[in-house]
Amino acid sequence: MKIDLTGKTALVTGASRGIGASIALRLAETGAHVLCAARSADAVNEVAKNIVDNGGLAIGVELDITAADVRERIKALIEQQPIDILVNNAGITADDLFIRMKPEAWTSVLRTNLDSAFHITQEVVKKMIRARWGRVINISSIVGLMGNVGQANYAASKAALIGFTKALALEIGSRSVTVNAIAPGFISTTMTEAMTAEARKALEDRIALKRLGTTDDVAYATVFLASEQAGYITGTVLNVSGGLYT
Ligand code: NDP
Repeated sequence: MKIDLTGKTALVTGASRGIGASIALRLAETGAHVLCAARSADAVNEVAKNIVDNGGLAIGVELDITAADVRERIKALIEQQPIDILVNNAGITADDLFIRMKPEAWTSVLRTNLDSAFHITQEVVKKMIRARWGRVINISSIVGLMGNVGQANYAASKAALIGFTKALALEIGSRSVTVNAIAPGFISTTMTEAMTAEARKALEDRIALKRLGTTDDVAYATVFLASEQAGYITGTVLNVSGGLYT
């Protein structure tokens, strides 16, 4: 089975580093034209340049997904190039025990992780519906399925993304647009690098596969859900946690 996304355009949010940068790279390897979006212009341009240097098609897009004009920015992007594959990957954490959690920590996480997916997806799927083809992939988290101490805001946002995924899948399936979520477990990125060796070992012991995930573990799952071959999969949550949560 060869995944070929030649001729398709993908928008990946949060593509300046971590999981999003790997998703952008792996999608480009299948022939897709990738719009790599994040707030750091230099970083997304670097990710795009790396793809182009390796023979792929990509551009960097400076985009704050929480900006008031995010819909206008997305509309302008679509006018230049319809988007066939949308990966809502950008996300933040602002951890605290619930009892101490500041309203700002709640609001900023919900705004970035959930509200932005609403605004961006609503603009993008209009064209997908007309084209009778599309892929929406929401990067959730197993924390949205199982909860986690200190992450009431993050867990709420990631659980809500799953509900959003399932409802939208039902609404637009008849137009051959699939909507799925990926629930990564603990993935080695800047988010997890801050851990002590002991904390990391304790975490690895809880994972059936006895290692943290890589950004590529999530990227390959994303590429599969974006593929033609995954055309009969919609409204599902793909758990990429190495068996941390089953
Ligand atoms: P990183 O912190 O490494 O990267 C987050 C990305 O989101 C960056 O590219 C950042 O770019 C972008 N971003 C953040 N805020 C905004 C914004 N307002 N507008 C545009 N882009 C934004 O995170 P990961 O790669 O680890 O995580 C990616 C996704 O995977 C997230 O949704 C996360 O919740 C999820 N996830 C991660 C896990 C892990 O273990 N790492 C586990 C489960 C889920 P910039 O700062 O340049 O804007």
